[in-house]
Amino acid sequence: MAKALIIGCGGVASVAIHKCVQNSEVFEEICIASRTKSKCDELKAKLDGGKTKISTAQVDANNVDELVELIHEFKPDIVMNLALPYQDLTIMDACLATKTHYMDTANYEPEDTAKFEYKWQWEYRERFEKAGITALLGSGFDPGVTGVFSAYALKHHFDEIEYIDILDCNGGDHGYPFATNFNPEINIREVSANGRYWEKGEWIETKPMEIKRVYDFPEVGEKDMYLLYHEELESLAQNIPGLKRIRFFMTFGQSYLTHLKCLENVGLTSIEPIEYEGQQIVPLQFLKALLPDPASLGPRTKGKTNIGCIFKGKKDGKEKTYYVYNVCDHQECFKEVGSQAISYTTGVPAMIGAMMVVTGKWNKPGVYNIEEFDPDPFMEALNKWGLPWKEDFNPEIVDAYPEEKESKDLEAELVG
Ligand code: NDP
Repeated sequence: MAKALIIGCGGVASVAIHKCVQNSEVFEEICIASRTKSKCDELKAKLDGGKTKISTAQVDANNVDELVELIHEFKPDIVMNLALPYQDLTIMDACLATKTHYMDTANYEPEDTAKFEYKWQWEYRERFEKAGITALLGSGFDPGVTGVFSAYALKHHFDEIEYIDILDCNGGDHGYPFATNFNPEINIREVSANGRYWEKGEWIETKPMEIKRVYDFPEVGEKDMYLLYHEELESLAQNIPGLKRIRFFMTFGQSYLTHLKCLENVGLTSIEPIEYEGQQIVPLQFLKALLPDPASLGPRTKGKTNIGCIFKGKKDGKEKTYYVYNVCDHQECFKEVGSQAISYTTGVPAMIGAMMVVTGKWNKPGVYNIEEFDPDPFMEALNKWGLPWKEDFNPEIVDAYPEEKESKDLEAELVG
């Protein structure tokens, strides 16, 4: 039986909280603490009455002292950081000061530069080890389940993995011309950055959306997908021995890309503050205020997501391919927990990751990415808690998209 302090009460946190309450055998007590306490109280009112005891608190997670005070008061076994990547380090500092386990779903980012690097959090390794506590980094879907899939593939299906392609497809439609499925600021920072992939020990940089492929996703159908940099590439390139190449692709519809390009062209996706009528404004934060709240997309989103990894490597001296993926239905998620599948596919692994740590299955002092733990209990829990996975061993799956580089000049298209 464990106590979890959950920081944040947005789309992802709401799903994780529903799942902790469903899993009352492990999560005996939770405290939902966020910047806006009324959101925590609303969720508590909705979920109260079950076996898990729920309390709420107001906290500014940028403030280490406030966090330490709250942790001393509630005495959790783990802090689940489901706020924003900007708060990762202050929450880790508070966990160190109170010797409490830590987990998150996204790597630390300074507010003024979109870096997507683990270095700041990896610098905490020795201090967490000395304090005898575990920090589990990136326990969402990607990063998260994609790392668990990689560790599972290596453990059960390969002697050596040479190639990994992570394929993230959202085949859902929310009916808006433009909206983001999770926090718009984080989402737009991610997709407007240069693409990057890792090959033969080097990072190869591409222009944003430069490399496009078409893939026929099981249960979703054919979609355009684009090569992006994604944070799990950094840790997987280090943690999967013998790897020759790892890439990440995400699907985007034409309407999303056209809107994004226009917003970029007028400067609305910039994270550089500008002065407007005597006030400092970050254009991307202003844009966030104009866009639909991702939490409001739940009732309108129809269709499915399909996220998985294609591995190619060797087993017993022979070439082998292996595709493992999860398909999730937006409407089914909404029926169960009142959220669309993007929040669902992140919130469920967040609960499972916290469960792995507090039940002692994944309890080793230090700071670890998810693929550094035994994948088996996590894979089992995915099937149990709403994200069942499927496998395909057909070698043709890796040849299903051509290898040539395809440049998509949206700018020229718009100007033309
Ligand atoms: P939301 O914007 O919906 O929620 C963020 C929550 O954090 C809000 O409740 C917000 O409070 C709270 N918050 C923000 N700043 C502070 C602060 N200083 N102190 C306390 N609380 C704060 O985001 P999402 O739920 O969509 O995303 C949550 C996290 O999940 C992000 O880090 C995101 O990058 C990550 N993510 C990971 C994925 C994965 O697969 N690994 C996929 C999708 C998301 P308020 O209500 O006041 O705004």
